[in-house]
Amino acid sequence: MSETFNGIEFKGFSKLSFMQRLNKLLESESITQEDYEFLKSGGLKSVQLGEKFIENTIGYFQLPIGVATQFCIDDKEFFIPMAVEETSIIAAASKTAKWIKESGSITTEVFGTEIIGQIQIAKVKNLEKLTTLLQARKKEYIQLVNKEVVPNLVLRGGGVSDITWRVIDRGDGFQMVVIHVMMNPCDAMGANLINQVCEYLKNPLQEQSGEMITMCILSNLVDTKITQAKVQIKVDEELGLKIQEASLFAELDPYRAATNNKGVLNGIDPIMIATGNDWRAVEAGIHAYACREGRYSSITRWRYQDGTLEGVFRAPLIVGTVGGVTQLHPMAKMSLRMMRVQSASDLSRVAAAVGLVQNLGALKALTTVGIIEGHMKLHIKNLTLGAGATEAEIPLLETKLEQFLNVKKRITLSHAIEMLQEIRTSQRM
Ligand code: NAD
Repeated sequence: MSETFNGIEFKGFSKLSFMQRLNKLLESESITQEDYEFLKSGGLKSVQLGEKFIENTIGYFQLPIGVATQFCIDDKEFFIPMAVEETSIIAAASKTAKWIKESGSITTEVFGTEIIGQIQIAKVKNLEKLTTLLQARKKEYIQLVNKEVVPNLVLRGGGVSDITWRVIDRGDGFQMVVIHVMMNPCDAMGANLINQVCEYLKNPLQEQSGEMITMCILSNLVDTKITQAKVQIKVDEELGLKIQEASLFAELDPYRAATNNKGVLNGIDPIMIATGNDWRAVEAGIHAYACREGRYSSITRWRYQDGTLEGVFRAPLIVGTVGGVTQLHPMAKMSLRMMRVQSASDLSRVAAAVGLVQNLGALKALTTVGIIEGHMKLHIKNLTLGAGATEAEIPLLETKLEQFLNVKKRITLSHAIEMLQEIRTSQRM
């Protein structure tokens, strides 16, 4: 399988210098000249933009942004921009993607289009009157909000499509009614849009029903719009069965499921951050979905059969390629361009794929060499910095820490500090 992108050789990308990497991205038209200059200059300098985004701005918290390579999703090559502080995530993603490119495939799909807005009536006074009204008038309400609040979404093929309701027994003799407003937000994540739709409905609903509406807000548990990624890969039986066992562990034990899902989010969150998406919303949605059967479980599932390992990720992944800061932050705009995603669905499919690939990489490491070997080797650089080594001292300290890790299979900051002291003492002698 080729290691070129748009005709440019990308083999050994991780060994290149910072400037060489930027040049490769520019040559392959993965970034524009403007992006190139922006990255070269170190990104955002003035706090002007930050002051527009949030309140009481005092600067930027700068996370590194890197690119995962080797991804072939739905037969299309991708560079994946990832903003993240944790060592080894990008290396593991690229390495696992390369393995899949050589021996398997990644395919994705999105099921459903609607997000959910909630309107709460905390204590319903006359349930029968309310439900009769909703039944009789829901078409009228849908037309009203589509005309008054989200006419542009309707022009784009989206907008409000349905209104449903749930009755919740409060346990104190009263009943709560939760009205669900279903809306296709097209390429927006849609939180602000659906919140405004729900708020708009408040007055007519209150006036016509005589009920008191207590609050309106979207739900982040969007089980009506699910993104799926699937990996199929040829593996030997021993590895296939080991990964299947690891999957069963996460499916059946919530303690393991939490860590499994964190590993999946290692692939997803950095893309959310790089593209200016609301990663808290995505996290909340995924964790809530992971509990949908009453017990927290894994959002991925791996099975081995006849030489093929198949993994599936399925969860809500509600993102936008417009709205929020996605088109306002230059890094977010660049990241979206780099992935050549045309729609919010495309972005959610890429993120799901990277999450699943990240999961496979972790499960392979955990069931074979263990987590320490790959992760701690890459973490050594952080330990040298944590120990206070200078640029000149880092290479020697790194070598010593690697040798120690190879022999002892463990390494901590105390080891790094001790070894640095030894280096300094021996250099004074
Ligand atoms: P938004 O308010 O920026 O609205 C999106 C805008 O994009 C709309 O004006 C729409 O008309 C326009 N648009 C242009 N092209 C479009 C296209 N092709 N498809 C759809 N819309 C198009 O953003 P939003 O998506 O409504 O809300 C996202 C923001 O809401 C995020 O910043 C998020 O952090 C925040 N938020 C989240 C929550 C939550 O998740 N619980 C709650 C409140 C707010």
